[in-house]
Amino acid sequence: MQQDAPGDAAVFDVLGEETRLAILSALVERRRESPSDPALSFSALRERSGVRDSGRFNYHLGRLVDRFVEKSESGYQLNYAGREVAGALLSGAYSVSESKGPTELDDDCPFCDASVLAGYEDGVVHVRCGNDHTLYRMGFPPGAAADRSIARVLALSSRLTYRDLELTIEGVCPECYGAVDRSLCETEVGGEQRLGFETQCERCGMRSTSSAGACLFASPAFVAFCADHGLDPREHHPWTFDVVDDEALTVVEDDPLCVRASVTLDGETFVATLDEHGRTVSTERSTAAE
Ligand SMILES: [Zn+2]
Ligand SMILES: [Zn+2]
Repeated sequence: MQQDAPGDAAVFDVLGEETRLAILSALVERRRESPSDPALSFSALRERSGVRDSGRFNYHLGRLVDRFVEKSESGYQLNYAGREVAGALLSGAYSVSESKGPTELDDDCPFCDASVLAGYEDGVVHVRCGNDHTLYRMGFPPGAAADRSIARVLALSSRLTYRDLELTIEGVCPECYGAVDRSLCETEVGGEQRLGFETQCERCGMRSTSSAGACLFASPAFVAFCADHGLDPREHHPWTFDVVDDEALTVVEDDPLCVRASVTLDGETFVATLDEHGRTVSTERSTAAE
């Protein structure tokens, strides 16, 4: 069991104060105006933060320096953590409430052929069929959903899913960059036994489940094979890409679970072996003899 790093609670404490948020916001605004020269002097920053009392301003700025703000000869600017926090606040993860849909999509449910509905609510993109089979469920920042249609939200969310999948297969949490446990597993989806890929972060508790076949999306050899046949798997929503369905997968080893995937496009077959962590460890391409 991993302990929280010392001072984690203090981080939330530092941000739970309006003057400090005003200072961060002033630095974000400055960075937007002048990306190549984002630093502000003490007095310019105080003025932009709307704080009259210099002593009070100095105290609050002092709480931010080193943690979220760096001081250099040219003045004060956001450091890496400050930019990350600003990004999280701007994407509206903590403040905007947005909802969209449900909207009917052109897709059919792979489990029951019912029509499929997509919506966005409480910070989550969800796609399910009329018979309640969940096809996709993914957290998505409200600030990113705000100015986008449901179609654009689904497209962006799909991209993020593939990016996150790549990171988790490498053992990295896409939310906190801590270490993740990940493994291929047998799981039940829509009342059927399926081969899945499960991840859990030891540090922040992030959990995700996808089909084992989805791990192929992180394989450059598989993406190249698809491209040679005029297909970009990353342009498809994760729940519509049926090239790697369950029939494409066979278990080659039980403990630890290893899987072979075999996909044929236009007479050419791509075979990959996935290890227990979902990594593609070997690939082969062959064309059936005429
Ligand atoms: Zn269904
Ligand atoms: Zn994490």
